[in-house]
Amino acid sequence: MSVYPKDGERIETLLRNANTALYRAKEEGKDNCQIYTPEMSTEAEKKVILENSFRRALKRKEFVVYYQPQVDLESGQIVGMEALVRWQNPEFGLVPPMDFIPIAERTGLIVPMGEWVLEQACAQAKAWQESGHPRICVAVNLSARQFQQQDLVRTIARILKEARLDPECLELEITESYAMQNADFTISVLRDLKQMGVRVSIDDFGTGYSSLSYLKQFPIDTLKIDRSFVRDLSAATNDAAIADAVIALAHGLKLLVVAEGVETREQLAILKKHRCDRMQGFLFSPPVPADKFEQMLRERRTL
Ligand code: C2E
Ligand code: MG
Ligand code: MG
Repeated sequence: MSVYPKDGERIETLLRNANTALYRAKEEGKDNCQIYTPEMSTEAEKKVILENSFRRALKRKEFVVYYQPQVDLESGQIVGMEALVRWQNPEFGLVPPMDFIPIAERTGLIVPMGEWVLEQACAQAKAWQESGHPRICVAVNLSARQFQQQDLVRTIARILKEARLDPECLELEITESYAMQNADFTISVLRDLKQMGVRVSIDDFGTGYSSLSYLKQFPIDTLKIDRSFVRDLSAATNDAAIADAVIALAHGLKLLVVAEGVETREQLAILKKHRCDRMQGFLFSPPVPADKFEQMLRERRTL
């Protein structure tokens, strides 16, 4: 809705502003009414500018891969890392994935960007293995759109070959919500991926609707307990019981369990008590650029 003369004295302006309000109404889940405000235009313009810059980001080499250590809870050593993409834009600074992954998905640019991340991550893992850290493996997030690409398996095979990385050292993460919503399709793609020898993990576990009958059919290796359960882990909350149950469930299915977003010693102690296998979180290190990660490896930093 836009109102004359406040929102425009000319018919074109009024219509354009009403259209902006219409987009907002659609974003809010349709079936509602939005009255135009000037902030909507600024926000919409910002989005267009962001989207246009994003389209040029790959060519301009503005993406950077950060790595977050995965630590074994028994030995305290770094056993792997998760590759997390960052967009370093001269105008907007460091843009977090939350702000550009949706654009990437919408525009389809997630596919070339995701391929680039995979290439970087595999080459990096290989380089660190060759410089004396033989066990370092890497986990890479796959978006829904990437997962649906016809040539996904071929692309991954090519990337592994180019990087000369052992397929067992690559773990692909797909989110629980995607995997469960598209269970049959997921199972068939995962089977092909497993045949290649790569590992698969279910990310953000516990946030979606999980079907245990599907879970047992997924040919996967790892469950990552979502940060939201780790956040309020203290002996007195239900989250401790949930984490305990998820860990037991995963071990029952012979899966490795990684806790995400571990920030405190208390959380760590509870996870250890429940025999969680690995942790990832600010307590040990946030995601960092490759040179910083390498420094941790060289120092043989432990938890
Ligand atoms: P995710 O895969 O669940 O990644 C974990 C997120 O938790 C990362 O956010 C990481 O920085 C953050 N994190 C790790 N430890 C802690 C902690 O102790 N405390 C808190 N508060 N946060 C922690 P990030 O890097 O912003 O990434 C957000 C999401 O964006 C990722 O969630 C993933 O779904 C997506 N993403 C990131 N990189 C890629 C990529 O290369 N491809 C695709 N398709 N998605 C990506
Ligand atoms: Mg992840
Ligand atoms: Mg996660």
